[in-house]
Amino acid sequence: MAKLLEGKPIAEKIKEEIGQQVQSLENKPVLASIMVGENAGAASYVKSQTKVAENLGIEYQLHKLAQDISESALIEFIQKLNSDKAINGIIIQMPLPAQIDYKRISQFILPEKDVEGMHPANIGKIVFGKAVILPCTPAAVMELLKETGVDLYGKEVVVVGHSEIVGKPLALLLLDKFATVSVCHIGTSKAGKLEEHVRAAEVLIVAVGKAGLIKGDWIKEGAIVIDVGINRVGDKIVGDVEFEVAEKRASSITPVPGGVGPLTVTMLMRNLVEAAKLQEGLSPS
Ligand code: NAP
Repeated sequence: MAKLLEGKPIAEKIKEEIGQQVQSLENKPVLASIMVGENAGAASYVKSQTKVAENLGIEYQLHKLAQDISESALIEFIQKLNSDKAINGIIIQMPLPAQIDYKRISQFILPEKDVEGMHPANIGKIVFGKAVILPCTPAAVMELLKETGVDLYGKEVVVVGHSEIVGKPLALLLLDKFATVSVCHIGTSKAGKLEEHVRAAEVLIVAVGKAGLIKGDWIKEGAIVIDVGINRVGDKIVGDVEFEVAEKRASSITPVPGGVGPLTVTMLMRNLVEAAKLQEGLSPS
């Protein structure tokens, strides 16, 4: 039976380190969070971020903007936050109303205040192995892998899903550890090759958003499985991997919920503190 890779205990350890770093800063770090309109999903993220920030001694400033705000007015607002020296990081809550193109407007956040790590300048730094601010979900996956003690050097690692927010940056972070990385996506599935790739994976990371996409009996004996997927099936939340069968074959596996999820907000706060340190002229961790 696989060891359960739970995110919460790792998150608690990292939060302790973040808390100490907050103490060493000259000013209390400030995270500005932009929420456009009312949305239950965004409101629940805000609630959990507020609680984590409060416990860490971070000031969480929520800016609620009108549902019908124009892109140019939102950009103007972002620029105001950019030039406010008291604000160390900016996050835009998803989802956004239809008139706002997230990709376009998020690029107006200064890279040094981009605590989601999604600005092209921050993504670019990953290519050069120089990133300090990492995208939150890939960073959470790397922390889970660290916890297993696996040496990624030369390992067959398969990432399923090539989104800009998870799969692509994660593949670069894994390459940086000298893993042999295969990235599977819709093309791999359409070509009927997904099973073949998954069966070869010593480390498998799945971030698609389709319940049961990865059959449990495809998992290589002893593999490490990180399931990023979140899917609502009836009244349950499940991942992309058939957990009950997979856990009998894997050496370690993340539960869904409770694996990657609890770590992502911690990664956001770690990015904020790293940003604050850089802004105070301190060296990154
Ligand atoms: P996304 O942008 O929709 O990307 C999904 C990826 O899966 C795309 O690369 C897509 O390829 C690929 N894909 C779709 N169908 C496939 C198939 N049949 N076979 C192989 N690949 C397929 O989603 P995302 O934002 O990366 O999120 C992925 C999942 O992770 C979602 O369930 C999301 O809720 C979850 N998530 C969880 C956390 C967390 O904190 N736990 C954080 C972020 C995301 P194409 O684009 O080419 O179709």
